[in-house]
Amino acid sequence: MTTLLERPIAFDSVLATVASIEDLSPHLRRVTFVAPRLAEVVIAGPDQRIKVLLSPPDGGELRLPVGPEWYAHWCSMPAEERFIMRTYTVRALRPAVAELDIEFVLHGVNGPASAWVSDAQPGDEVGLIVPFSVDTTSIKGMLNSGVDYVPPAESVSRVLVADETALPALAGIIEQLPPGVRAAVFVEVPDAKDIRPLPSPGEVDVTWITRGDGSLPEALKAASLPFDVDYAWVAGESGMIKQVRRHLVSTIGMPKAAVSFQGYWKRGEPQI
Ligand SMILES: Cc1cc2nc3c(=O)[nH]c(=O)nc-3n(C[C@H](O)[C@H](O)[C@H](O)COP(=O)(O)OP(=O)(O)OC[C@H]3O[C@@H](n4cnc5c(N)ncnc54)[C@H](O)[C@@H]3O)c2cc1C
Repeated sequence: MTTLLERPIAFDSVLATVASIEDLSPHLRRVTFVAPRLAEVVIAGPDQRIKVLLSPPDGGELRLPVGPEWYAHWCSMPAEERFIMRTYTVRALRPAVAELDIEFVLHGVNGPASAWVSDAQPGDEVGLIVPFSVDTTSIKGMLNSGVDYVPPAESVSRVLVADETALPALAGIIEQLPPGVRAAVFVEVPDAKDIRPLPSPGEVDVTWITRGDGSLPEALKAASLPFDVDYAWVAGESGMIKQVRRHLVSTIGMPKAAVSFQGYWKRGEPQI
């Protein structure tokens, strides 16, 4: 009998300090965080999700969550007293210097995370919930570790779809695309100045869509994909990703299981 060993997955909270800030384009700001324990963080893949914790709306102190029951406790608190929690992607991790980068979309002061990053300064502190142990031995283990980009080993022809919130994850995915793997990439950004190089060892064909000049689902529908697609990763605004998935499954005929799709935000609604 074969026994499959699942590796333990462990996330924990860390108080991290802003070390530096760099504007990559009008709507994307890279923030580098530093904290001694970031030297021990591990990630399961290029779209590794983590949580950013900010002070509660009532202006109270940011108290980091502790113990396995923290989430139930957090849910039971009055909304004004809970720390604010939002999901982001690890864009880069440098354990040797205990640094982690997140690329935040600047979408105005309509949300606490975007408002925070608009004003962030070196020396500011946030909480992070980050992985210290991940399971990359199986698809289930990867998904449970907080990644959604899990192409099957035999996949050679992919479609990758992202808006600006998923551009950090997409950039990491493209950087790690194996040579010989083809990807048709569709990216929607708010402004032409948000377009940036996406270097890759793979064979990548990128279509950029500037919001207002068209929509991503329309661009995808108008495109003729240059190959038979065997895997798709789709991430971005909830309404957009649903249209893209419908097209890939109903029109192109991809099996549902071959399309990973993730709502990163919902127009008009806060994340939590
Ligand atoms: C797995 C995952 C990974 C993610 N990675 C990243 C990442 O690396 N970088 C990143 O910037 N975001 C990322 N996001 C998206 C981010 O979590 C949301 O944009 C989140 O809503 C931002 O929180 P907020 O406090 O700024 O706004 P919220 O309080 O959540 O929302 C307030 C208002 O802002 C609107 N809003 C939220 N996001 C946007 C936007 N991008 N453009 C316009 N309006 C918006 C909402 O519709 C709402 O009306 C990720 C989400 C997921 C699920």
